[in-house]
Amino acid sequence: MPDSDALFETAQRLMPGGVNSPVRAFRGVGGTPFFVARAEGARIVDVDGRSYVDFLGSWGPLILGHAAAPVVEAVSEAVRRGTSYGAPTAGEVEMAELIRRAVPTMEMLRLVSSGTEAAMSALRVARGATGRDFILKFEGCYHGHADSLLVKAGSGGATFGVPDSLGVPSALAALTLTVPFNDLDAVRRQLEAHPGQVAAVIVEPVAGNMGVVPPAPGFLVGLRELTARHGSLLIFDEVITGFRVGWGGAQALYGVRPDLTCLGKIIGGGLPVGAYGGSRALMERVSPLGGVYQAGTLSGNPVAVAAGLATLKLVLEPGFFERLEATTRRLVDGLNAAAKKTGVAFSAAHVGGMFGMFFRAAPPTSFAGSMLACNSKRRSPLNARVGTGSMPICTRRAASSSPAMRAAASRSASSWRLSC
Ligand code: PMP
Repeated sequence: MPDSDALFETAQRLMPGGVNSPVRAFRGVGGTPFFVARAEGARIVDVDGRSYVDFLGSWGPLILGHAAAPVVEAVSEAVRRGTSYGAPTAGEVEMAELIRRAVPTMEMLRLVSSGTEAAMSALRVARGATGRDFILKFEGCYHGHADSLLVKAGSGGATFGVPDSLGVPSALAALTLTVPFNDLDAVRRQLEAHPGQVAAVIVEPVAGNMGVVPPAPGFLVGLRELTARHGSLLIFDEVITGFRVGWGGAQALYGVRPDLTCLGKIIGGGLPVGAYGGSRALMERVSPLGGVYQAGTLSGNPVAVAAGLATLKLVLEPGFFERLEATTRRLVDGLNAAAKKTGVAFSAAHVGGMFGMFFRAAPPTSFAGSMLACNSKRRSPLNARVGTGSMPICTRRAASSSPAMRAAASRSASSWRLSC
């Protein structure tokens, strides 16, 4: 097999940046991506035979590690029965029941194939149900790459949306309001400035895409109250937090009931599955019952559902989250202690099995504090890790080349951040 360098050279001629998703190109951290040959448990092995401890877990889905035996068995069995039918299966019913049991606000749900699809569809339901066009999201929260959601704040913070990507019509981006995470006053101001016009507020209840930034005390409860008062729906994007911060996700942890929830990552156990859902009344708006159209050739795919079910059943076992939490705490405590010893300005935070680290003395509470410019001095240790046997995570995604992100970065101290 060709080595990573040779593969990357060919790949760059065939795919933008040589990859099928921008962060894999290592642009945020520098260096050349390695190409993976296989993985098992916590270890990932590249085509050059180097073995790494994998802190990435495929960006979240692999809560059980690589190639967990029950998942491999379930997938192998499923694939022998056929890979896709375009017709419903018992597995989808079991999966929907399991998700509803864990996340009771999802009285009714739809399986889709990615987190992007889940968030995009939840927004459509919200707009369809309320008859309103505006949505409100938070700076630094990522909800996939649907047009309405590829919008962060301009440098003024709470303002009309400016697209983060070429190709997003500005007329559509203008319907996306953005405010700083953890800033309830800014939310209030926007809802008051757009009376009866905001369909939904969408939030990562624990922000995972700007490192790991937990909600400030009262923030999620405040969002619930404000949205209810203004007739807007509250959407929790639990694509990362779902089955990660606890069995019932962030909504169970913080005791806040959103109207709609998006899931992804872990519920597919490493295969493409997402889900969105909410109250029966809201979800009955979805086709074929209602006028909100949403569909998918591979939605609820039997092989993907088999992987998801096998994963969720293991996660459901007593003590799983206690163990996950304890392991994560041990890692984070160790990192903080090591940094303290060396005098490096550093802080690591975790919520359940989610953790992130920042090269600053205290964790940030918003995007402006977390979006810190990458410089080569700080980046080099990251590359060093890649070279010597661990695979870390840098959430400085390709979108950071966008004007809005650059503006936020230029307002912040210099550093880079890791999270998972
Ligand atoms: N929502 C959140 C919170 C995410 O972190 C992501 C992806 N990292 C998405 C949505 C989009 O999911 P996907 O990449 O599966 O489309």
